[in-house]
Amino acid sequence: MAWYPGATRMELQPESDGQPAIRPTQFILHSVAAPWTARRMYEYWRDSTNLESHFGLGYEGDLAQYIGTETRADSNYAANRRPDGTGAVSIETASNLKHTDPWTDRQIEQLIRLGVWLHQRHGVPLRICRSHSDPGYGYHRLHSAWSSGGTSCPGDARVNQFRKVVFPGIVNRANGQSPSPLPPEEDPVPEMLHESNATDMELTSGNWTGLSFRTAVLLVGPVRQHTVVHLVLDDATAPDTVVEGCFYTTDKNGGDRSLHLPVRGYGPGGHQFACTADVGAGRHLRFMVRARTRDSRPVRLLHRAVSGPFWKL
Ligand SMILES: [Zn+2]
Repeated sequence: MAWYPGATRMELQPESDGQPAIRPTQFILHSVAAPWTARRMYEYWRDSTNLESHFGLGYEGDLAQYIGTETRADSNYAANRRPDGTGAVSIETASNLKHTDPWTDRQIEQLIRLGVWLHQRHGVPLRICRSHSDPGYGYHRLHSAWSSGGTSCPGDARVNQFRKVVFPGIVNRANGQSPSPLPPEEDPVPEMLHESNATDMELTSGNWTGLSFRTAVLLVGPVRQHTVVHLVLDDATAPDTVVEGCFYTTDKNGGDRSLHLPVRGYGPGGHQFACTADVGAGRHLRFMVRARTRDSRPVRLLHRAVSGPFWKL
């Protein structure tokens, strides 16, 4: 039985003791189609139906846990518990009656924190589930095997937030908090990457721009690396400017791009982007940035730096 320390415990009985154990490998997000608090969800499952989730989240960020994460809950149909004993952890989130509204900022913050905990506690891998049984993160309508007869849950606005804010937020925070990757055994002392460039640069709104530090190539594989890019944007940048950073690898000619997941921030000042991964033989690690402004005006990048340990493999 695992209980998330960031939630209020409102244990549902007899489900919590009576339902079979699972090994949690997925996290599936729902909208409950009701503007309820986490306590009201508890009362609903206690009194009215037994298709409960592990967690419930109100608009104000009130988060409750009803069942331990290593016990089956019943909101994900075939994903609740598979024949191999793996299953999904589920959360219902307050929404309007037709689940067409977006998550509030407080809900998003709680979803990210819980998503990080599930990665750390249960090893849920930081990817979007590629199939109904694939370990990772998803939302109810992502795979048809997760519902009986189909569902639009959690709604278009939240699917969009999941892909652009919630899931990248989980990845970013999980990477930021995890220690550097284990060095290869033969060479425990890392080399350090540290380059910076103080030349002002104009970023055209909406376009990805590859950044050069000393050169455009940060590292050449094969290496194991933990790299952080730090960008500083002009104070005149509008606060609602969307700033995205993306690490990627190429072949030695800059072709055959393979993208990491973009990570997003907002507004002026400092922005940090982290990447922890092995870069394969002959691959070049690079970084690009995109700023998007409401009025399409360009954004001024004042300073950029890249640093972190790496180990030649
Ligand atoms: Zn649902």
